[in-house]
This record gives sequence, C-alpha cells and structure tokens, in this order.
Amino acid sequence: MGENRRVIVVGAGISGLAAARELTQRGYEVTVLEGRDRPGGRTVSVDMGGSMVDLGAAFIHGVEGNPLSAIVKEMGLTPVPFEQCTLYQSDGWPADIREDRRVERIFNDVLERCHQAAVQHLEQRGRSFSDATAASREPAPGLSNTIGSGGSRRRPASTLKPSAGATAATAAAAGAASTPSGNGAAADGAVDSRNGVHSTVAAATGAAAGVEPAQPQRILPGRLDELLAQEGKSLLSGLSKGEQQLFNWHRGNLEIACGADLSELSAVHWNQDDRYQYEGDHVMLREGYGCLVKALSKRLDIRYQAEVKVIKLDTTAVKGVQATTADGRTFDADFLVCTLPLGVLKARAVRFDPVLPQAKTDSIRALGFGCLNKVVMLFPTVFWDTMDFIGHAADTRGQWVLFADLSRMTGQAVLVAMTGGPFATSIERLSDSGILQQIMAVLKRIYHKVPEPVKVEISRWKSDRFARGSFSFIAPDATAKDYDTLSEPLCDGFGVPRVLFAGEATTRYHPSTTTGAWLSGLREAMRIDMLVRPTKHKEPFDPDCVYDCSIRFPRVPHSERSPFTGAPSPCELKLTAT
Ligand SMILES: Cc1cc2nc3c(=O)[nH]c(=O)nc-3n(C[C@H](O)[C@H](O)[C@H](O)COP(=O)(O)OP(=O)(O)OC[C@H]3O[C@@H](n4cnc5c(N)ncnc54)[C@H](O)[C@@H]3O)c2cc1C
Repeated sequence: MGENRRVIVVGAGISGLAAARELTQRGYEVTVLEGRDRPGGRTVSVDMGGSMVDLGAAFIHGVEGNPLSAIVKEMGLTPVPFEQCTLYQSDGWPADIREDRRVERIFNDVLERCHQAAVQHLEQRGRSFSDATAASREPAPGLSNTIGSGGSRRRPASTLKPSAGATAATAAAAGAASTPSGNGAAADGAVDSRNGVHSTVAAATGAAAGVEPAQPQRILPGRLDELLAQEGKSLLSGLSKGEQQLFNWHRGNLEIACGADLSELSAVHWNQDDRYQYEGDHVMLREGYGCLVKALSKRLDIRYQAEVKVIKLDTTAVKGVQATTADGRTFDADFLVCTLPLGVLKARAVRFDPVLPQAKTDSIRALGFGCLNKVVMLFPTVFWDTMDFIGHAADTRGQWVLFADLSRMTGQAVLVAMTGGPFATSIERLSDSGILQQIMAVLKRIYHKVPEPVKVEISRWKSDRFARGSFSFIAPDATAKDYDTLSEPLCDGFGVPRVLFAGEATTRYHPSTTTGAWLSGLREAMRIDMLVRPTKHKEPFDPDCVYDCSIRFPRVPHSERSPFTGAPSPCELKLTAT
C-alpha cells in the first residue's frame, strides 16, 4: 500500500475538512471537491451589522472534552454559553414560571415513560435495548455514560430537552405500534478481518468468503408521538388549555432539537446518543462557525463549484477511484472520502458505480433527515428584555416557538427565529416577506411595538441542493446500527477499502452535530493511514474508537487576530486514539 497517497475528499463541510486536514498533515496528496463556492457546508455565518451570525450550526454541545472546544480554545475564539429561556403564552403574556415548571416535569415524565414503555416493548419481543443500540458497548472514556444525563447535545435551550430513561418510571403496557418489517433483513456484507470493514463486492454479490452476519430483523417499537399520546393520556387530560399550550411548547422545542416532528422519530432509539454527550456548557461562538471553517480550510487544495455527479470504484483491478464532476472533469485517486449529506444520498443526486450495497441503501432510506430553519434579523434597537432565548407557546404547535437573543453576544440587536420539523420545511415555499410577516406577528403579540428589521437572512436548508435538510435523526424504521452501516467503506476486489464515508450521519455517537462530523472525518483519515502505513500504528483500525485530536496554533495574541483575515493557520494537528 506504500504508494497509495492520492485522496479525493467529496465535500468541504466539517467532516471533509477534518479528513482533508488530517491526511494532508500526514503527507497525503488531497484534493477536496466541493459543490458550493464556499467551505463549511451546513455551517455558514452571515454578516449582521459587523457581527457574524450562524444560519446553520451555531452551538458546540457540551464543551468538556469536546474536540471542537480544544480547537476553539487554540484559535482564541470566544465561546458564549446560552441557558436562560423566558416563555410567553400565545396571548403575549409571560407564562407563569411555576406552572411551566410543573408542565415541564410532566413532559419529562411522559417522555421517560415512553422510553421505558418502548424498551419494555422490545423486551417483550425477546430483544433487549442493548441489542438494538450501542448500550452494550462501553462509552469512550471521558464521555458521559448515563442515559439522558441532563438533556440533549442539540438542544437550543440547555434545560429544555429532558432526559429519557435512566431512572425507573412506571412502565405502562407497551402495546404501541409494532410492525416488524423484513426490510432490514439484507445482509451487511462480509467482514474483512484485517480491517473490520464490510466488503462492497461481497455485499453486492453475496460471494464473499468471510462470515456473513445474519442481520437481525428490524424491530419497530413505534413512533414517539404514538407512545406520547398513549403514555400521556391520563396526565394530559388533567391539563388546562394554557397548560396544554405549554406542554405543546416543550414538544415544539424538542422538535427543533430533532429537526423533526415527534411522529417521525423512533420511540426507542430517537435519543440513543444522549449517553455519549459531552458535559458542560452549550456554547455559541461569538465569531461564528465561519471563522473556524476558514481557519480549518486554509492551505487545503479545495476545488469549489466542483459538484460531483459520479463516484466510480474499480472493483476488478487496483485502479482506485474516480470522481466525475457536473462539468465533466474527472479526478482519479487511490481513496475517496465521501462526506455527502444524508439528504443528498437519499435524493440519489450522486451516482455510485457499482451501485451501493443493499444494506447501505436500506440504511439511507431508513434514517430520517430533518429540517431546522433560521431567520436572522437585525433590528435598529433592542426592543425585547435581554435574555438568551425567548419561547413562544404558539396556538398551533410547532410554529415560531423559539427565538435566540444574540444581543448580549454580538452587541447588536440581533434575534434569530428558529423552527423545526415539517413546519420548517413548509415555510421554504413562502417568500421572504411572507415568512417575516409571520414572525413579526408573533413578536408584536409579545412586545407590541416592534420596529422593522434593517436586515434579514433566511435559511432554506431543505431546498438547498447540497444539503437537502439540516441533520439526521432515527426514524421509526431505523436504529443506531444504520449509522454504522452508513460508515462502512466500499472495497475493491482485493477487499481494500477505497471509498470511505464520513459526515454527521455516519456516527452513532455524535450524530447530527458538528462534533460528530469532525470526529467522523478523523476516523476515516485514520482508517486510510492505518491501512497505508500499518507499521506506524500500534493498534489496528477500530471503527468504534473515538479518534480525538488536539490542534495547535501559533501563539498569536488574540487581539491580533481578526475573524476573517487574521485567523492563524493551524501548524500542528496531533491525533491520538483514546
Ligand atoms: C440550521 C442548522 C442548525 C444546526 N445547529 C447545530 C448546532 O447548533 N450544533 C451542531 O453541532 N450541529 C448543528 N447542526 C448540524 C451540523 O451543521 C452538521 O451536523 C454538520 O455541519 C455536518 O457536517 P458534514 O461535514 O457532515 O456535512 P456538510 O456540512 O453538509 O458537508 C457536506 C459538504 O458536501 C458538499 N456537497 C454536497 N453535495 C455535493 C456534491 N454532489 N459534490 C460536491 N460537494 C457536495 C456540501 O456543499 C457540503 O459542503 C445544524 C444544522 C443546521 C442545518
């Protein structure tokens, strides 16, 4: 494998940049092919009166031990914790705090019951929760090992997403929708014992010599909303109209965190990754993710507006891989790291030759890809009471339920309206003024005198052809194993992994986050390097290992760095297996 030094990375999002940087650092010849005219993918910062505000990812979820925190620290960027949320009812009056606390407790209780009921449902069918998730595996050192230890890695308001599962709640009968399907029964492909990877050829032909693990039948414990309705029936019937509004607000907030309606989520697996979440504050970056991305993409060979249309793997001889772009250019390499978002894979916007193995296409179909949209508004003055988040318990569930107040962080009168799930997708059909009208109506109900914004930026992630949504989630038909399947490489005729997969939807540990994207890029860089230079590594490649990194920047005083021009180039990227 000594001469295999050429690598194509498809996509310059966080995962692609992580892989490209790491491989470049290790002496590989890396070309990044990016469809857009900018790096960062689902992270993008827009200028609001001189402050950079994120239209895509904004938070680092849990700073303790998070590799992105280490990078942020080295760059001298400013993490700002966000915690407080003041909640308003649909009539514009603030919600009673005690009432909201009570409703929040009920909401958390119902979710916990749902989790227990779903687990019991699995067990009644002879499956354990740990069979179906990563629970049987010890979490990587340094990570939380309690289920639901205090909320989600994605939650916008830190206290808002409840835990599900650790403490025993009365588990009601678990008879919710259960429709075991046979659709996941396709074989994964043979295990290559040297690399622990699954062979495409084997999967495609079924002729591999290795062990063909029988894929367990997919057990469908049902949709989260069905269980919620069932488990919450008695509790909800005792709630007043106002309390029900608050209950729905908590639900809407959770839907923002998941980018999906609860009816789209698996009742048992939807929060399987909570146990791996990082501890500590959930922070935004004052300088915006764009600043981080700009520094990470420095000195990389990135070809912009290079939309890949075909990824071809030579399975018969050792010719490697070829990517063909929309304008007919071809790029040859020994390895290709594909970081196409799940939404792009679902849309089959890129052709794989040979076609992807059945197990992979099943997982692409089974996992969900949600939508979270943001409307960033710069006002002439701050007309709201300053706080981190403004919650709005709308009459209609799931509409404009959450606003982030960035005035403290940016020093500008910036509000960010957020919406998730089907409503977020539906607004993409509206004009900018139509969307703004809806938001202004909500703000006027709460604050009465609201000036017109001087600048507005609106995301439409579902219609963005290079994203086709915001991030992945576990749908009723899926389990965490589908994330593993998405990460499996495609091998050539000799069983050598040639096309590798990274991106947020390829990790069961930190899916749907920038951290997960980053770690997955490092994981695939390590997979290549351990294959090409096995003697340099003490341990063989382990796909379940959390490959962590520490990135070092020259010691330039922070005051000398400007976010967009002066970010110092990383000079060293160390990688250690933990
Ligand atoms: C509104 C929103 C809010 C979010 N909030 C958070 C948050 O607060 N915290 C958090 O951790 N995460 C958040 N996320 C999720 C986070 O943004 C993603 O998990 C992460 O950025 C994904 O990185 P990636 O490298 O896997 O994919 P991407 O960033 O999507 O990178 C893939 C790249 O491939 C490119 N591409 C696509 N098709 C082609 C093609 N055919 N040819 C060439 N290139 C192509 C794309 O342009 C893109 O640059 C949010 C996402 C959204 C949309």
